[in-house]
Amino acid sequence: MTKEKRYGLVGKCLCGAVGVEVETDQITISVCHCEMCRRWSGMAFAGLAANEYAVTGSGETAIYRSSEWAERAFCANCGANLWYRFLPDDRYVFMAGLFDLPAEAEIHEQIFVDHKADWYEVHPLSRQVTGEEAMKDERRSAARLGWPGNETASY
Ligand SMILES: [Zn+2]
Ligand SMILES: [Zn+2]
Repeated sequence: MTKEKRYGLVGKCLCGAVGVEVETDQITISVCHCEMCRRWSGMAFAGLAANEYAVTGSGETAIYRSSEWAERAFCANCGANLWYRFLPDDRYVFMAGLFDLPAEAEIHEQIFVDHKADWYEVHPLSRQVTGEEAMKDERRSAARLGWPGNETASY
């Protein structure tokens, strides 16, 4: 995979009032099967992490504080989900469905695979991480950034 190519991705919510622009050199999608993400997105949350991004448009975004560690945003007009934000390191993961992604985009990993619903299968061609492993990683990042360790925190 080449790293020289830069992608400028432009996405939008269902009504178009909120736009998201992302710059990235690699389009990697992570899928979360945890109960919260399933409730939030209908099945599993397919997210695109990006460090360089801009929120555009005239639309109002509404923020829901879904856990001690995270916020989830949606368009106040149409209700389309926009992003998950991990507060300790201010990491944004945008809904992959906001963008018209090129064919080279790929699912990089799937987390909380052991928390998936029974009525679908996890796509086999990607790294798979259990909920316990994923929480361990996030606890480690949170602790490194001075957030209190919370064994019971949800994702
Ligand atoms: Zn909207
Ligand atoms: Zn999740």
